[in-house]
This record gives sequence, C-alpha cells and structure tokens, in this order.
Amino acid sequence: MSDGSLSVGKLIQTVRARGVRPSIADHCSADVAFAIKTVDEVRAYLEELEGHDVARGGEFCWHDSLWRELPDELVSRFTHRLGSLHAVFLPDGTTVHVFSKRLPADLTPDAYMDIHVDNLERFAREMTVDVLAHPTLLPLPFRSIPLEDMWTEEREDRAVKALASAGIAFEISARYRPHERLVRRAHEAGVRISLGSDGHTSEQVGDVEFPLALARSIGIRDEDLYDPFVHGRR
Ligand SMILES: [Zn+2]
Repeated sequence: MSDGSLSVGKLIQTVRARGVRPSIADHCSADVAFAIKTVDEVRAYLEELEGHDVARGGEFCWHDSLWRELPDELVSRFTHRLGSLHAVFLPDGTTVHVFSKRLPADLTPDAYMDIHVDNLERFAREMTVDVLAHPTLLPLPFRSIPLEDMWTEEREDRAVKALASAGIAFEISARYRPHERLVRRAHEAGVRISLGSDGHTSEQVGDVEFPLALARSIGIRDEDLYDPFVHGRR
C-alpha cells in the first residue's frame, strides 16, 4: 500500500500462486518516503488488511518514534511486527541513514559498525517487535565491503546475543542478503529465523527461494521458521 506496486488482493493472489502463505508488512515510519507515517494511517492500513485473508505485519524504524506512539489497541491488531535499523543514532544524538550517499567524514566503516551494534543492542532491549528485518542492511557507501569484514565475529556475537535474549527473530531477507556465518551464528544461539521476500513487485512478492535455501542449508527445519500463527508474537 505504501511503496509496493500491487493492490492487497493482487498481492495475495500472486503470493499464493507461488505456494507461499501471504503476509504483508508495509513500512510504518514517519522518516521513510512512501511509508505509512501516522497513527491514523496505521489504523486505516490495518482496516484494509483485516478485510483480507493475510498476515498483518508492519515494519517499524527503530530510529523513528511512530512505533512508540501506537496505542495498544492498534498494536494488538498486527499479527506480528518487524523492526529495522534504517538509521542509527550517533553518540551525539544525530542519525545516519542507510540510504544516504554521504556520511560524516570521520565515520570509518569500523566506527560505524561499533555504533550499529550498539544501536542493535538498544533496539533489542527497547523495541517489542517480533523480527529484526534485514539485519545486515548497511549504509550505501559501505555496501561494497564484504559483510564478513564489516561484521567481525565479536560483533556478530553481540548481535545474536541481543536478539536471543529479547526473543526477536532474525530475518533472512531476499533483498538484503545476510552472510551465511551470521545466520548460522544466530541459529546456534537459539534465535528463531524468519524468511522475507521484501518484495515490492509481482516478480518479487512471496519469492523466498533464496532465504529458504539458505535456512535449509544450515539445517533449520521448515517448522522452526518463524510463523506468527504458530510461535505467537511478543
Ligand atoms: Zn526495511
């Protein structure tokens, strides 16, 4: 409804045709273009989804305040909620957005990653979501650096411990693909794994081929993959 190209009905039909159970998670954030930006818009979004046979998700930005403003009555109408780090707070309180092309001049990849993991730990403590969406999405200028180098094993360890103690699932995103070592570490730490297409077009929606193959290659059983109707929500 926000930045996707399909109607709800068409999306459901397309995903079902792939043999995948449909789930919609529009971006709910005042700080992202083409997103659901207000409490009233969240209400209208839920009303629309409640008219269809579909899982009602939503992706909320950690750095934005909309998720903090939602009344419990609306929170309870989601089948599950995702949180994501589309921006992180720097120590001075300003934010760095993952889609900005320019970063502060003194922000090295190493310094950024320490801040990123600090933010991830705070996110896990404060945000009562069920899934961390695309955990390895990083700022544009750093995306050419191999993920295995950005995520040292120590950083991976901190991240998966934070998710495990909060009971937040780790999404294998088809769009922002995580490196296998981190997914394996999350699984071994007891973090539940979730599959996400992050699809916006009819070619993409419900296409979880890559996430499913990666999860299976690590030895994760299909029935252990996060399913809000089986594993519930927080
Ligand atoms: Zn996202």
